[in-house]
Amino acid sequence: GAVDIECEMLVIGAGPGGYSAAFRSADLGMKTVMIERYPSLGGVCLNVGCIPSKALLHVANVIEEASHFADVGVAFDKPTVDLNRLRAHKEKVVGKLTGGLAGMAKSRKVEIVRGYGVFIDPHHVEVSLTTGSGSELSGEKKVIRFEKAIIAAGSQSVKLPFLPEDPRIVDSTGALELRQVPKRMLVIGGGIIGLEMATVYSALGARIDVVEMGDTLMAGADRDAVKIWEKQNLHRFDKVMLKTRTVGVTCRPDGILVKFEGEAGPIDDQKYDLVLSAVGRSPNGKKIGAEKAGVTVTDRGFIPVDKQQRTNVAHIFGIGDIVGQPMLAHKGVHEAHVAAEVAAGIKSYFDATIIPSVAYTEPEVAWVGVTEAQAKGSGQRINIAKFPWAASGRAIANGCDYGFTKLIFDDETHRVVGGCIVGPNAGDMIGEISLAIEMGCDAVDIGKTIHPHPTLGESIGMTAEVFEGICTDLP
Ligand code: FAD
Repeated sequence: GAVDIECEMLVIGAGPGGYSAAFRSADLGMKTVMIERYPSLGGVCLNVGCIPSKALLHVANVIEEASHFADVGVAFDKPTVDLNRLRAHKEKVVGKLTGGLAGMAKSRKVEIVRGYGVFIDPHHVEVSLTTGSGSELSGEKKVIRFEKAIIAAGSQSVKLPFLPEDPRIVDSTGALELRQVPKRMLVIGGGIIGLEMATVYSALGARIDVVEMGDTLMAGADRDAVKIWEKQNLHRFDKVMLKTRTVGVTCRPDGILVKFEGEAGPIDDQKYDLVLSAVGRSPNGKKIGAEKAGVTVTDRGFIPVDKQQRTNVAHIFGIGDIVGQPMLAHKGVHEAHVAAEVAAGIKSYFDATIIPSVAYTEPEVAWVGVTEAQAKGSGQRINIAKFPWAASGRAIANGCDYGFTKLIFDDETHRVVGGCIVGPNAGDMIGEISLAIEMGCDAVDIGKTIHPHPTLGESIGMTAEVFEGICTDLP
């Protein structure tokens, strides 16, 4: 058939993976086209993920911190929340970033085609053009011929089959729309996304129940960190139901009735004004006609790739949420650069051993590399050094002396292989430990690095000093 557009590099999806891949491809000299069905670039992360959630979490943190200030002699009134203005603030933050991306695409001459793309063979994609404020089909189609392609079509929220359609039952996208502040809210799923949204709604005044099938909240993080998090968050929750399943949901005019089954589940049905389902995300691999291009897709919808981000079809690459866990923006961006560079003939590859994870809750929990649980599971011999923030001047001054910094060292080499921080700004600080792991630093390297005093980040140096016994008398 007729070809409407020809390019060297075609990128499917304009999330953090897609736009990073498109920009790097263009910078490396390839004529690049990027397909996106929505009018605004940035994918899940910028529009309905990382960025709007953090805009709201910042507000939640300020509310939370102000509420403790009476203890130090400075009392604020109870906050009054204007949901419309808060929503407008969040939308402005998102708009600044997505608008910036459009400018960056233009300055690199990356052509954006607005529509839904599916492969029709290994070198052609058919795009059903979209229009309006969502992804309504315009009826028009375009065929793009490409030399190379990068699939960055992302993921979407998992839908629990027994949840009825009701405006009071939402996924993370619905929760970020801030339509109401419920009195009682149920969060299904005790992972990072569920707990971040619980933090926001609790700060706005909702009482929260969390139900989680597993035996812990925030699976993936070390137990000691989660324990501290739980203690700091007890005040938000009426119930945290672990090892418990949601088995029935009935919508009534006066509320959503939910039935639970399991260890911590209450016998009576519970009534909620809002139910957030945050039980994970599933990749979009089965929705892009991958089979027509000969690209392998797993049963769950992931696209397997090698360390150079190549799929089984050598000129087609995959990046971001669609290629596997962890489904995090910074992983996708890194993979995007590798894919674009490999496509341009550069010998680049991805080393996925360390990807930091952060729960931007109150307090934050951040971890990177080997965790204690992983070391135990794999039999890796490690040493652990933990610095309680009760010994940090800055943490005491800031009222967060409940936190800690932990470093995990290889027993033999004393090189740092993992780390975990719990406390305010943990996410900002975990980057130092990530760099130390990447650079192969040992405890002496970190301990002998002069950290500014008094900071929370100084706790990383102190943790290493504790381990090496360089300094035994702490401040
Ligand atoms: P996506 O961002 O999913 O983008 C894929 C894009 O492709 C979408 O815009 C979609 O419309 C488009 N698309 C899909 N198929 C087609 C097609 N066939 N044709 C045209 N266009 C198509 N990660 C973090 O690292 N930090 C955080 O703090 C964080 N917070 C989050 C909070 C929430 C509430 C959620 C839901 C996620 C969060 N994430 C966070 C995860 C992060 O958003 C994702 O890891 C990231 O967006 C994945 O990027 P991606 O490029 O792979 O795909």
